[in-house]
Amino acid sequence: MADKKQNNRKRNNGNNMDDDFNPKFRKIRRKVCPLCADKTFELDYKNGEQLRKFINDKGKILPRRATGACATHQRAITLAVKRARHIAILPYTQD
Ligand SMILES: [Zn+2]
Repeated sequence: MADKKQNNRKRNNGNNMDDDFNPKFRKIRRKVCPLCADKTFELDYKNGEQLRKFINDKGKILPRRATGACATHQRAITLAVKRARHIAILPYTQD
């Protein structure tokens, strides 16, 4: 028993020294979809400034894990970005 505890401490000597630390029960902060949270937010493919939040510096569309958007809104974002690219508001690539 004492041995086990010693081992645990050895393994955890990285970032978290808390004995109660268990990655299984880590508090999960669930991201709320920015489009669901803001009811007045309207996705517009003609609004380049708005869509720039959803693409990275290479011009790629950010994944859901980055945008935090729900499936419905992620699909809407993708469609809007693609439309914006077609009418040359957003770039297809950069560099
Ligand atoms: Zn949503």
